Amino acid sequence: MQGRELRGELDAFLAETEQDLVAFRRDLHMHPELAFAEYRTTQRIAERLVAAGLTPTVLPRGTGIICDVGSGDGPTIALRADIDALPLQDEKDAPYRSTVPGSCHACGHDVHTTILLGTSLFLAQQAAAGLLPGRVRLIFQPAEELPGGALEVMAHGGISGVDRIFGLHCDPRVDVGQLGLKSGPITSACDKVVIRVSGPGGHTARPHLTADLVFALAKVLTELPAALSRRIDPRSSLSLVWGRVEAGTAANAIPDDGVAEGTVRCLDEEAWHAAPDLIKALLESVAGAYGIEATMDYTRGVPPVVNDEDCVQMLGEAAERALGAGAVVSTSQSLGGEDFAWYLESIPGAFARLGTRSPETGVTYDIHQGTFDIDERAIAMGVRVMATTALTALFESTRVPAADEITSALA
Ligand SMILES: [Zn+2]
Ligand SMILES: [Zn+2]
Repeated sequence: MQGRELRGELDAFLAETEQDLVAFRRDLHMHPELAFAEYRTTQRIAERLVAAGLTPTVLPRGTGIICDVGSGDGPTIALRADIDALPLQDEKDAPYRSTVPGSCHACGHDVHTTILLGTSLFLAQQAAAGLLPGRVRLIFQPAEELPGGALEVMAHGGISGVDRIFGLHCDPRVDVGQLGLKSGPITSACDKVVIRVSGPGGHTARPHLTADLVFALAKVLTELPAALSRRIDPRSSLSLVWGRVEAGTAANAIPDDGVAEGTVRCLDEEAWHAAPDLIKALLESVAGAYGIEATMDYTRGVPPVVNDEDCVQMLGEAAERALGAGAVVSTSQSLGGEDFAWYLESIPGAFARLGTRSPETGVTYDIHQGTFDIDERAIAMGVRVMATTALTALFESTRVPAADEITSALA
C-alpha cells in the first residue's frame, strides 16, 4: 500500500475512533491495576477485540492477552503494550484521576494499552479487507513493573514464530507528534539490592560498648555508591541508588537491626555481571569496620533493551510516513529498566519513545510520579506509528526483490 493511501485510511479511522480511544484510556486510568492483577483491564481489552471480530487468548493467570490478526503464510510481526499500573498515589487534579487509593497509571501503560487497542482495531479492518500480507501478533503484556510479565508471555509461546517485535513507551521529555529512536542499547539493566544489618543493640550513651548500627548503616549507604564509582569503569554508568532505609524506634536506643533497599542500574553488560560480587565485598568490608553483621539479597532484574538496527530503520520510516517528515528525533540511552529487553534477547525488534509532552505548556510530567499525565493527542499518534510500523515490517519482510536487485546481487 502507498504511504499516502495508508495515511488517508488512518485519518478516516482516527476521525471516527480517536474520542472513543481517549475515553478508553481515561477509563483504564481511573481503574489502575497492579502487576498480575490486571483482571478488569484484561476484560476490557478482550471485549473490544472480540467486538472487532478477533479471537483473543487470555494468559493462564487471567491477566494479559495474546491475539493474532490476519492469517496466512506471511511473516509475523508482534506489537507489544504493557498494561499494569504502579503502587503510587495519583496526585493529579483531573476528572479521570485514579479511583483506587495507592494505585496509579504513572508510567503511561494505560496509554500504551489504548494505542495497541486502537492499532488492533485498525489492523482488524485491514485484515477483513484482505490487506494484511501476514500476521500481526498483539501482545497485551501484564506485569512490566514487577518485572516479569515478558517472561510470562514468552513462557506461553507469545513470541514463537514471531519475526520482529516492536513496542513504545511514553516519553514526557519529547513533544507530542515526535518519536525518539536509537539503535543499540536504549534502556539499562536494573537490579534490586536489599541489605540487612544486625548487631547487639544498646544505649546511645555507650556506642563503644555495642556496635553503633545506625551509624554503620549510614556509612554503608554512602560508602557503597562512592566506592563502586572508583571500582567500576565509569563508562558503564553503574549506579547504586537507595530507595528505602529503616532502622530503630527510639532516639536513645541503638537498634539491633536495619535494612536498606535500592536499585543497581547499569548501561554495560560486563559491569552488570561484575556488580553483585563487588557490592557484596564492599559491604562486608564497610560493615566489618564497625563490628556489625551484614547480608545482601541481590535480585537480577532486566538486561538492557538493545534495539536492532534494521528494526529501528523500519520504525523510523514508518514514523516519518505516519507523522510526517521531521517527526523522528534521536534519543539517548536511559537508566530506566524495561522488560521488553527479554523479547530482544530472543528475536530482533525495536523500542521507541513516544512524545507525550504538550509543546504549548512545555511542562514535563515525569513518569513514576503521582502527577504524571500526557497530552492525549499522543494516543492517535501512537496508533499511526504502530499500525504503519506493522504494515511496513510486513511488506518489507515479504517484498519480492526487484529484477535489478537480483542482477546486482548475482554480479
Ligand atoms: Zn515504569
Ligand atoms: Zn513503563
